[in-house]
Amino acid sequence: MKVMKFGGTSVGSASSVLSVKRIVEAVDEPVIVVVSALGGITDKLINTSKMAAAGDASYENEFREIVYRHVEMIKEVIPEGEAQVALQRRAGELLNELKDIFQGIYLIKDLSQKTSDTIVSYGERLSSIIVAQLTGAEWYDSRRFIKTEKKHSKHVLDTDLTNSLVRETFGTLPRRALVPGFISTDKTTGEVTNLGRGGSDYTAAIIAAALDADCLEIWTDVDGFMTADPRVISTAYTISELSYVEATELCNFGAKVVYPPTIYPVCHKNIPILVKNTFNPDGVGTVIKQEVSHSQSKAIKGISSINDTSLITVQGLGMVGVIGVNYRIFKALAKNGISVFLVSQASSENSTSIGVRNADADLACEVLNEEFAKEIEMGEISPIQAEKNLATVAIVGENMKHTPGIAGKLFGTLGRNGINVIACAQGASETNISFVVDNRLLRKSLNVIHDSFFLSEYQVLNLFICGIGTVGGSLIEQIHSQRRKLMHENGLQLNVVGIADANKAMFSREGLDLERFREELQAKGKESSLETLRNEIIGMNIFNSVFVDCTASADVASLYKDLLLHNISVVAANKIAASSAYDNYRELKQIARQRGVKYLFETNVGAGLPIINTINDLIHSGDKILKIEAILSGTLNYIFNKISADVPFSKTIRLAQEERYSEPDPRIDLSGKDVIRKLVILAREAGYRLEQSDVETNLFVPDDFFEGSLDDFWKKVPSLDADFETRRRVLEAENKHWRFVAKLEDGKASVGLQEVASNHPFYGLEGSNNIILLTTERYKEYPMMIQGYGAGAGVTAAGVFADIMSIANV
Ligand code: ADP
Ligand code: ASP
Ligand code: MG
Repeated sequence: MKVMKFGGTSVGSASSVLSVKRIVEAVDEPVIVVVSALGGITDKLINTSKMAAAGDASYENEFREIVYRHVEMIKEVIPEGEAQVALQRRAGELLNELKDIFQGIYLIKDLSQKTSDTIVSYGERLSSIIVAQLTGAEWYDSRRFIKTEKKHSKHVLDTDLTNSLVRETFGTLPRRALVPGFISTDKTTGEVTNLGRGGSDYTAAIIAAALDADCLEIWTDVDGFMTADPRVISTAYTISELSYVEATELCNFGAKVVYPPTIYPVCHKNIPILVKNTFNPDGVGTVIKQEVSHSQSKAIKGISSINDTSLITVQGLGMVGVIGVNYRIFKALAKNGISVFLVSQASSENSTSIGVRNADADLACEVLNEEFAKEIEMGEISPIQAEKNLATVAIVGENMKHTPGIAGKLFGTLGRNGINVIACAQGASETNISFVVDNRLLRKSLNVIHDSFFLSEYQVLNLFICGIGTVGGSLIEQIHSQRRKLMHENGLQLNVVGIADANKAMFSREGLDLERFREELQAKGKESSLETLRNEIIGMNIFNSVFVDCTASADVASLYKDLLLHNISVVAANKIAASSAYDNYRELKQIARQRGVKYLFETNVGAGLPIINTINDLIHSGDKILKIEAILSGTLNYIFNKISADVPFSKTIRLAQEERYSEPDPRIDLSGKDVIRKLVILAREAGYRLEQSDVETNLFVPDDFFEGSLDDFWKKVPSLDADFETRRRVLEAENKHWRFVAKLEDGKASVGLQEVASNHPFYGLEGSNNIILLTTERYKEYPMMIQGYGAGAGVTAAGVFADIMSIANV
């Protein structure tokens, strides 16, 4: 025989109740069906009682809804006729009793525990007669055989008495029995009690264990036990097998899919529990049993959490070495019926932290302050207070026992995401590591853990892209076209969760549509300033986030520090921060290192060419950069390749802008500023402390051309054409080329126009290409050379993309 339990979610609507009927009728063997109250009714009963007790006359409306739900349910699921009339009458009697009780409460404005327990029992009493009628099952009254006794002001099961009564009741099994879950009676007074919220699961387990059932089935509204609460983690998936220990650990920490006490009685008898979905009966579900195969499964099985946690810390130097402090703490709490679900004690013995429910926190402090009143007065122990509004998270899995480094990975992942752990505990059984965090960080904690332990099918990176000009725009297009492939081949999901331009911004936790991002930003983006952008990104508090700066804005660069401090990685195509004051550059790199996030800017020099990474690799492997010689401006190289008798100097600048090689303001290129910035960045990465003002310059456009507006510049620049043409002819006759060269040697940096002869490696550098020669201790005689496209939106965006990918580390 088997026992099947259908939860409130399975008997919430007429259509779900009809699925229950189909599922039950398909069972061939004898079966005992346990049901909860119709979904939401227990909450409504509690709420209505509270309203009545508070003298709020509108309790009647709440009550009317309770009546309506049952009357309608009967109408919808029981065919018209005598049976329906009889059932309506029976339900009507129960509802009338309930009405009288509520009226009594309203009149005397008092709600005792006893009355409250009586009221909630009507939920299961009503639902069970409906389902019994519907499935043609014989109805049994669980109040007659589920017996409780009072311990520490709580009703707890009297197991022996209950077992023998259950065996007696079901001595001969009917083909189909129906039992209301949750409700019970006190073994001495006979008063109605219950097994606690969610207790129908327990009723079913008690019956299954007492009768040595072959299987206990828990039918609910999800496909089984999942890796995490599916309402919080969208990528959570069903776990096919769990051991009793794992299931106990998970549901003790809030995975409400199974009520925690449920597991023990059946585990004791080695009866498997099958968790199934009433709305998808063909789904495989989860089986919970003694032995599960751990060989191929992941290090952890699942994550669960409780979000209304308080932490109470008993501390004081006077506690060190004193025997019995913990005994007194737990005795005082137990006497008052306060349950403790996490304990953490420092080995110095001067503090013990205890996790309790928020609802128990005040009472717990009160009893502990009383217990230790003397010590507190003597100053040996500090007055005891509760830290409220915390959440407790547990990661669970029997495989943890065999795998070193789980705790390291767990706390590393949390740390990198800026999540501060307030307390933690791991039992010696090593099947559960629990930790306490601020309530507001719960969602993020669950997400990062789910992600990092590969419980999710994919690793997720959440990107905020700022700037949708040529580089940002190409980047988004590249992400859009690569996304599916990355997901399938690399298990990486790139979510663009924010896009901003200079005026507007849009955000979505689930990821934005990249197909029409420009139109969407125009139509739906919110007006945004630097301040709102910062607040929104930090406020979203999203895990594994990366801020991608595709602007050339100093304002945007000023955000990095704050973002890094909030554990958001930064990938910048923008050169301003890395070339700003040396101390600022160092600070950003240091913060990134301390926070375990990345600050990457490979595209600051040579667009997509791997220059900075190469320098880093050389240095990390012990090499030393002796000299750098390079052409680092795509724009300038293009200009000096383009200039000819037919194309005067001023025209080449226009062309470079049209090709989108130049900075938005081409004077940044022509003044050498862009190259100075790049050289400074390279020098710093090579280990030299260099400021922009340290770089010597030999320019080719007089300084006064850079004063005034961009318009003035465009008007004035053709006046240089004639002089350039004269000099160009001389150069042509000498068979030389102009190259704008950046150089670092012996820590001294310079940029300037040089005339190079045909035997120089820079002579033949075409188009907007860049070239860099690295002379190092290892590459001394023949310097290392990197060469290729040094400008252009496509290659720059690809370089930014590569930086993003290196953060994912796939
Ligand atoms: P029932 O009414 O059937 O007893 P509950 O609402 O008590 O159902 O429990 C089922 C719910 O538990 C699911 O709808 C889901 O939202 C929630 N839940 C929380 N954690 C988990 C988890 N790890 N796996 C599955 N469901 C979970
Ligand atoms: N109806 C009760 C509750 O909502 C018991 C149960 O559903 O298991 O808590
Ligand atoms: Mg439940």
